[in-house]
Amino acid sequence: MSFLELRDLKRRYGAVAALDGIDLDVQQGSRTAIVGPSGCGKTTLLRLVAGFDAPDSGTIAIDGLILAKGNNSIPAHLRGIGLVSQDGALFPHLTVADNIGFGLDRRDAAREKRIAELAYTVGLDGAILKRRPHQLSGGQQQRVALARAMASKPRLMLLDEPFSALDTGLRSSMRKAVAELLESAGIATILVTHDQGEALSFADQVAVMHEGKFSQVGTPRDVYLKPKDRMVAEFLGDALVLPATIADGVALTPLGRVAVDVTESRKAARIMLRPEQISLEPAVSGEIAGAEPGTVFAEVRQVEFAGAISTVTVGLLNSPGLPDVAAIGSAPVTLKKPGPNGLSVGDVVRLSIAAKAHVFV
Ligand code: ADP
Ligand code: MG
Repeated sequence: MSFLELRDLKRRYGAVAALDGIDLDVQQGSRTAIVGPSGCGKTTLLRLVAGFDAPDSGTIAIDGLILAKGNNSIPAHLRGIGLVSQDGALFPHLTVADNIGFGLDRRDAAREKRIAELAYTVGLDGAILKRRPHQLSGGQQQRVALARAMASKPRLMLLDEPFSALDTGLRSSMRKAVAELLESAGIATILVTHDQGEALSFADQVAVMHEGKFSQVGTPRDVYLKPKDRMVAEFLGDALVLPATIADGVALTPLGRVAVDVTESRKAARIMLRPEQISLEPAVSGEIAGAEPGTVFAEVRQVEFAGAISTVTVGLLNSPGLPDVAAIGSAPVTLKKPGPNGLSVGDVVRLSIAAKAHVFV
């Protein structure tokens, strides 16, 4: 039995199936990230788990106790679940301190100390405790919302894009701090985000959502390196998808012979590589004729500099022992490489593949 179990959850709004059969298992103290495009049902799912809305059918259980079965539902305040919603939803008329301490007993002598501790944990300066929400930046408001949700010591924390109002640097440090905080408190967490990097670095388990369903649920490594289909692959990052024929663990592709992660033979398969699995070495065009058969050469078509990372687009050249490029109709290959890499348009490069390619089912 898992700590949190969702079984065949469905929720429809008029003609829209916001949730169309969701199954999920979350282990005690673990971190799950849900990623998916806008409108795929992420917020609806968290609201159902928190108890702010009820499913049309399906069940939600924590520790073996059923919280919702169809629209028979235990109210939100009895569930012991914290939710930080997308907009923070602070009480505008209360000070920051009273927002954070909303669920704490007013007669408790340790209340103020606890509020100060919570503010400190989420990185808020004590000086703003007397302010009201409208006097805070978006990022500060989200941190107040997080501190308020932590105050009631929930057994499960639901975070709906809580870092989206923060700047990049602050965002990753907050994410780390929150992850450590929740982990040390042993609180299982579900984070909703549309940031793939955030999902992959935060979670033990990533669920990729599409139109009210999970396309794939797995470890960050598995969903990234062994995506179920092209949609999942491309949602989680840049992917190079190539046609291939496979025999004896080797795929014959427009990039030459590539080792793959399956052993069975396939006549018409599709393989996937992540751009960082392909390396480029400068070469000279005179080198091609005498090169070892199977070596892949390409010409740089475009270099787009963006600081630490450059996007380099290459077109394959005819190379010894490989199918004619014109005959296989090979499309340009786009790769992300460290920023200042000295490559310019027209350069000849040698491609090599460091990893086994993934074969789509
Ligand atoms: P996400 O958080 O992934 O962007 P939502 O869960 O907010 O997506 O919405 C999923 C779908 O359900 C969307 O098509 C949205 O318009 C619809 N929806 C969500 N809440 C309601 C509601 N209260 N009434 C009608 N439609 C809704
Ligand atoms: Mg949402």
